[in-house]
Amino acid sequence: MPDVLDRARSQVLEQGTGLAEADLLAVLTLPDERIPQALQLAHEVRMRWCGPEVEVEGIVSLKTGGCPEDCHFCSQSGLFTSPVRAVWLDIPSLVEAARQTAATGATEFCIVAAVRGPDERLMAQLRDGVKAIKEAVEIQVAASVGMLTQAQVDELVAIGVHRYNHNLETARSYFPQVVSTHSWQERWDTLRMVRASGMEVCCGGILGLGESLAQRAEFAAQLAALDPHEVPLNFLNPRPGTPLGDRPLVDAKDALRAIAAFRLALPRTILRYAGGREITLGDLGTRDGLLGGVNAVIVGNYLTTLGRPATDDLALLDELKMPVKALSASL
Ligand code: SF4
Repeated sequence: MPDVLDRARSQVLEQGTGLAEADLLAVLTLPDERIPQALQLAHEVRMRWCGPEVEVEGIVSLKTGGCPEDCHFCSQSGLFTSPVRAVWLDIPSLVEAARQTAATGATEFCIVAAVRGPDERLMAQLRDGVKAIKEAVEIQVAASVGMLTQAQVDELVAIGVHRYNHNLETARSYFPQVVSTHSWQERWDTLRMVRASGMEVCCGGILGLGESLAQRAEFAAQLAALDPHEVPLNFLNPRPGTPLGDRPLVDAKDALRAIAAFRLALPRTILRYAGGREITLGDLGTRDGLLGGVNAVIVGNYLTTLGRPATDDLALLDELKMPVKALSASL
């Protein structure tokens, strides 16, 4: 039987078909000395099916904290003792954040709110906010405001939201260990509606929640079945006061194996480094990931933790000769 990376070379690199779950588990359990080979192959897959460009995105929190849900990794839940408190951003600040994001060369600006799903107040804020941004800044607007009804999906399309983020977070089989206030299926239902609406689907998750490697492979395969336009890959950055506040970080080598595996599951997806990469991998890991299948980054701060300065990432992309995707190319 051929080796999993040999199989991946013909199936993923040459034909563009992602690896199935059993092969993904084989990648996630490769011995340490084979990690560079896996990353190199993942990089070739990314270059072949996505090209050298890197998509840069900024995110802003329209409503921070006070969420009624209990996702155990999240400091924005109002059910834990984490120090994030509910705060709303006003429209001028939102526009200013979009302007600063665009100034870094980013093409995507994602408005995020810590909610189960939007209520009328939040929908009104989005309506006004997206309109104000579109009038003032050249950037594409994405949103991440939880679970949606069909009417809300339709409205987001109508106001010009072009990509919607809603993470499945982890494997279906592990999700009940991490969230009790809603189900994986409810998240999946929102994603199906978003997909059918024509908005781009952005869906990823967090590694290191206590899932097994088999569940990591399961999750990658479930994402591949959804076939999202973008997958943000987070590594748990344990937040004080949350139920997962004491969990260990993902081992750096496991994180690199996961990057390779997710790229080999999703050859055409924008695979974005999101939260936790700095503490999990350090600066060197950022480089390894970008040479191992990752082709998008978030600039600036994450929602509740600090990221690296935008200039560091942009300098690294320059050094790696990876052009930042231009707005004209993404419109
Ligand atoms: S992950 Fe989202 S839904 Fe879950 S507690 Fe945090 S803000 Fe709420």
